[in-house]
Amino acid sequence: TSSLTRPTITAPTELFIGGEWTAAASDARFDVIDPASGEVIASVADGSIDDAEKAMAAAVAAASDWAATPPRARSEILRTAYELIMARQEELAAIITAEMGKPLADARGEVAYGAEFFRWFSEEGVRISGDHTLTGDGKNRIVVTRAPVGPCILVTPWNFPLAMGTRKIGPALAAGCTVVFKPAEQTPLTALALARILEDAGVPTGVVNVVTTTDASGVVGSWMRGGAARKISFTGSTAVGKILLEQAASTVMRTSMELGGNAPFIVMDDADVGRAVDGAMVAKMRNMGEACTAANRFFVHRSVTAQFAEQLAERMGALTVGAGSAHGTEVGPLIDDAGRTKVQTLVDDALGRGARAVVGGAAPDGPGYFYPPTVLTDVDAASDLMSQEIFGPVAAIVPFDTEDEVIALANDTEWGLVGYVFTQDIDRALRMGERLEVGMVGLNTGLVSNPAAPFGGVKQSGLGREGGKVGIDEFLEYKYFAIPRG
Ligand code: ADP
Repeated sequence: TSSLTRPTITAPTELFIGGEWTAAASDARFDVIDPASGEVIASVADGSIDDAEKAMAAAVAAASDWAATPPRARSEILRTAYELIMARQEELAAIITAEMGKPLADARGEVAYGAEFFRWFSEEGVRISGDHTLTGDGKNRIVVTRAPVGPCILVTPWNFPLAMGTRKIGPALAAGCTVVFKPAEQTPLTALALARILEDAGVPTGVVNVVTTTDASGVVGSWMRGGAARKISFTGSTAVGKILLEQAASTVMRTSMELGGNAPFIVMDDADVGRAVDGAMVAKMRNMGEACTAANRFFVHRSVTAQFAEQLAERMGALTVGAGSAHGTEVGPLIDDAGRTKVQTLVDDALGRGARAVVGGAAPDGPGYFYPPTVLTDVDAASDLMSQEIFGPVAAIVPFDTEDEVIALANDTEWGLVGYVFTQDIDRALRMGERLEVGMVGLNTGLVSNPAAPFGGVKQSGLGREGGKVGIDEFLEYKYFAIPRG
């Protein structure tokens, strides 16, 4: 295994196919960039369609043995992988920070969160159960069993490079599926380090295959069209999700889609404003705002808007921005130049329509893709950042007057992942939660993600759920046996 070794990070840099660490068939490589400096930190194998086909062949070859492996044996491997991730928490956190930018403390948090998917699904994997009933006339038995769907395509984004992998690999392996995994090109090192952990944990040859590549559409497209895969689980943009849904139609493939969000963060007049500000800091600033669950639109009752904006601006303005690896950093750089340019363009559009930047509002000079925590007030509801995912540390505040008005504003989007509601009135909290067109509701909290909970959205935020009791269902088929009573 050739690997990259820096003072703090060690990760494989080759493809992982059929249990072997191999260079790309073409020998091509691509650079991994540290977003805090813009510098190259590693060179990774750039897989092509040839490599993709080998990876799929390996996943297909391993499928029946893995499906026949006792659930407890599969669970023990996942449990071991959980323990290895936690034993290597520092090393993995350093890799995440190096290629993705988030502060080390947040990266450690992601490692713990990501590892938990393996522990959770190691526990769920031994509790897969079917059903046994009678037909209405009592003449026939209905026996329902569950079976793995078959080889799965897993495609993940860069924002949680470890957790987005474990959230898919965990339930797939627990269900008895083999996988081909294509991580985001910005964050291949974390995915390869995870593959090494799975190898060390005893995952058999071909059960997990990782192809890093700059040719996402070529590699994933070859898997989508190849006919061998039975399932795609994708996390990323709605635009790419739609392409994959079209491709999935060609082979009638099962799909799980975790797509974009445009989360409303609603503060009612009876909210505990201090608590709402605490929640806002998490909902907005977790992962520098680079999360599909990030609060994208702050709707604050007119009677508390000034108080909320002032407190939020004070907290946002006090955050320490810097390299994720530097001591004391609370906000790291954004992922790349394109990500930062998008944020700046959205802020400029809002400012051009009369918004006011209470703090932040302009990218600093110098190396790295930094953007300061920003609070905008007097935001025109027609601004682009109301209808597009900001994916950066920018809080845009819009005042409202009535509950009906804010529900209409919140639901006025094609997305429906998560909504946050702050109120001390329990009836109102539940009523508003029910009226929001979302898959997840944070009531007086800015954090909903948890491996034990079903994560996912409605409308164009996606299809299916990850985590919780239902997460494993995405990787299982039903099979029904009709058995006459003799
Ligand atoms: P983001 O904006 O978060 O980068 P993307 O949807 O572009 O979201 O990327 C998420 C994942 O989808 C990444 O692994 C990326 O390489 C992959 N991807 C991008 N375009 C395609 C495509 N046409 N087909 C398959 N995968 C793609």
